[in-house]
Amino acid sequence: MSAIQGCRSCGHSDLATVLNFGQSPLADRLLRPEELGEEDLFFPLRLVVCPQCALVQITENVPPQILYCGDYPYYTSVSPGLVRHFTQAAHAMLARTPLPAGARVIEAASNDGYQLKVFRDAGFEVLGVDPASGPAQAANDAGIETCCDFFSAEVARRLAGEGKRARLLTGNNVLNLIQDLDDFAQAVDLLLEEEGTLCFEVPDFVATVDQAAFDNVFHQNTTYWTATSLDRFWRARGLYLNHIEPAPTFGGSLRVYFERREDPSTAVRARLAEEQERGVPSPEFYAAFAERVERIKAGLCAMIADLRRQGQRIVAYGAAGGMATTLLSYLDLQDNPIEYAVDINPHKHGRFTSGSRLEIRPAEALIEDRPDVALLLAWNFADEILEQQAAFREGGGRFLVPIPEPRLI
Ligand SMILES: [Zn+2]
Repeated sequence: MSAIQGCRSCGHSDLATVLNFGQSPLADRLLRPEELGEEDLFFPLRLVVCPQCALVQITENVPPQILYCGDYPYYTSVSPGLVRHFTQAAHAMLARTPLPAGARVIEAASNDGYQLKVFRDAGFEVLGVDPASGPAQAANDAGIETCCDFFSAEVARRLAGEGKRARLLTGNNVLNLIQDLDDFAQAVDLLLEEEGTLCFEVPDFVATVDQAAFDNVFHQNTTYWTATSLDRFWRARGLYLNHIEPAPTFGGSLRVYFERREDPSTAVRARLAEEQERGVPSPEFYAAFAERVERIKAGLCAMIADLRRQGQRIVAYGAAGGMATTLLSYLDLQDNPIEYAVDINPHKHGRFTSGSRLEIRPAEALIEDRPDVALLLAWNFADEILEQQAAFREGGGRFLVPIPEPRLI
């Protein structure tokens, strides 16, 4: 484990703290009953902003072999909503950047080839790069050539040496996971053709701030981008932000297009001007966010203490993933006021959350055991969950929705 010496984008060493979560357990790690005697893995979780290039980032680099130790491989194709979204995204990219016949599309973190299929079916050459062996194998089996490796300068040099360069280089929700940004940018430079376009989606940190969604901060998410920080990072490496579109994934994302020649669209100028006007490049913008997060934390802790005084039984709903881990860890609740967690994913049942050590039960426990209140950790799916669990509320149960303002419904 190691903390960064300076900003990952520009090297500036005097970074301003936005939020300090202290020692936080690793997300995505669910314990089996026989592992309960083991110590949890805790790492510092501190969010900082660079006053020079406006990049928001965490200070710690957790080694990838520890960070991605989760034993259930993730296949994008099992989520119909994501497949639908990225199919539309691929068509949007092709509409914006018409490719010549025979052009090659390369995707970083291509998973099981869910998006490259769209480009292949449109008649283009495709090549994926993904380190997860299960999904990479599934892609190769489906005829999507996939190199099972991390997307790095080393791999890029090899592929470029084989003459495999991209007219369109993509990779969604990957830049935010990268610890060594310079290596990533070098890989892009090696693989992108002179006339090529780099286009990808990344979570929009302005949207995170607007929703006070501080639980988006966890160890896997190394960097948190805005149009301003994206523009400054890539500009310094010879790629220019020429177009930007909003995307609905992860509570708000940006789909951004970069090319080697500067020609910004109206949307790019408007978004950068809006961020400038709102003070996004300055640390003060994040100080206001931090204050709001502190208020939410205090409000939630007071509500939970109050419910306990009234003798109400509290459980948690939606038990895993970085968001739930950060939220539970940050609340730092005393005397274990939460009895257990429920989740609809059967792979998680019978296991325990890291840090908070809550047993994960099927969602039916809400009806069979009848707790009084369920703290909704998956608050971003509140509408869907409230509908699914209508019987719990009809029987007198209530949900405690933590974000953007704590409320009982
Ligand atoms: Zn910087």
